[in-house]
Amino acid sequence: MQFENTRAFAKTMDARDPLKKYKDEFIFPRVNGKPVIYFTGNSLGLQPKRTRKYVDEVMKDWAELAVEGHFYAQKPWWDYQERFAGPLSRVVGAKPSEVTVMNTLTVNLHLLMVSFYRPTPKRYKILCEAKAFPSDQYMLQSQVKFHGFDPADAIVEVEKREGEHYIRTEDIMAKIEETGDELALVLIGGVNYYTGQVFDMKAITRAGHRTGALVGWDLAHAAGNIKLQLHDWEVDFAAWCSYKYMNSGPGNASGAFVHEKHHDNGDLPRFAGWWGHNKERRFLMEPGFDPVRGADGWQVSNLPVLSLAPYLASIEMFDEAGMDALIRKRNELTAYLEFILEQVDAGTDSKFEIITPRNPEERACQLSVFLHGQGKPLFDYLMKNGVITDWREPNVIRLAPVPFYCSFEDMYEFGQILKEGIN
Ligand SMILES: *Cc1c(COP(=O)(O)O)cnc(C)c1O
Repeated sequence: MQFENTRAFAKTMDARDPLKKYKDEFIFPRVNGKPVIYFTGNSLGLQPKRTRKYVDEVMKDWAELAVEGHFYAQKPWWDYQERFAGPLSRVVGAKPSEVTVMNTLTVNLHLLMVSFYRPTPKRYKILCEAKAFPSDQYMLQSQVKFHGFDPADAIVEVEKREGEHYIRTEDIMAKIEETGDELALVLIGGVNYYTGQVFDMKAITRAGHRTGALVGWDLAHAAGNIKLQLHDWEVDFAAWCSYKYMNSGPGNASGAFVHEKHHDNGDLPRFAGWWGHNKERRFLMEPGFDPVRGADGWQVSNLPVLSLAPYLASIEMFDEAGMDALIRKRNELTAYLEFILEQVDAGTDSKFEIITPRNPEERACQLSVFLHGQGKPLFDYLMKNGVITDWREPNVIRLAPVPFYCSFEDMYEFGQILKEGIN
């Protein structure tokens, strides 16, 4: 498509956008009396207007029914998470029995590691990407130490090459091959939080399995952003937070995936709790843990219904809009933002370097931009003028044009403000 850096062109794009009505379904903070241009949905998604209704419903049921709400609420609380199975499985490409909602992301990774990182003296290494999100680094290091290994030896990091900005898939493949039968687990972030690089999860999962390792994914920046086919790719396990692209609210509940092939394996250790116990017999309070078959069998505590309510509101929006339509718009919007950045850059002395892959297959809803010759004042200027971006040292801004609530006109408008802010 031939893009143009004009408001008229952007408006035409918006007019033919099948998802345009959703912008009005979100609440935007205001700066100088105007709704902001929001580029940080990769960090905390905006609040959908319909969320309040879902939360109010739980508050009302709690007020009017108290403990009886577990069984008689409009959406009974005792199995509230089962409402996610259908829509959430469609977002991540799983069978309904393979997904559940519980706890928070890093906690779920720890719990899943109990089942899927079972090192032996010979096969104990974990392969991950260098500079993984810090919480994942701490999680992996502490798991390895817990099992009596030295992180310096047991954690194998794949680095980007000198002078390049992201990791080559072939280098991941080579490292998997090289680690061979010492490799117990591959665990990578499906979309890198810093560069926005999307990894070839299908190929990497297959390569991990070929060496006899298990493969898990942290999908914090992937869930609700890219096309996932966790079941077909034979991913062993995965977890994601819901407050980034999934718009469920700060620090909110995490989703987890456990592949069907593990559902009947009674030998898998897990840290159990009463909510993972056989549904029919849960309230008989019997001794002896009998897990629910499927991802729900990894549940521990009874459900934080007040935090699941906003997640449910959001997941139903995803089901309504459909991942394919969101991805189609995401691709156009990201490409248009890339075009705008190039246009602005061409007219100034600055030098913007997009460090996200230029190949649309290797990126999703994020462009990370190195602002050579510019610094924090530019970021501050954008914030003061109603453009919310994210600043990372040394001088990178991350821009996520989220298809649910960003428009083409937002991209155009951003370009105008950016141009004024450069000096
Ligand atoms: C956002 C993010 C987290 C955050 O973890 P919490 O447990 O939800 O605080 C972890 N890992 C990755 C890769 C992330 O992007």
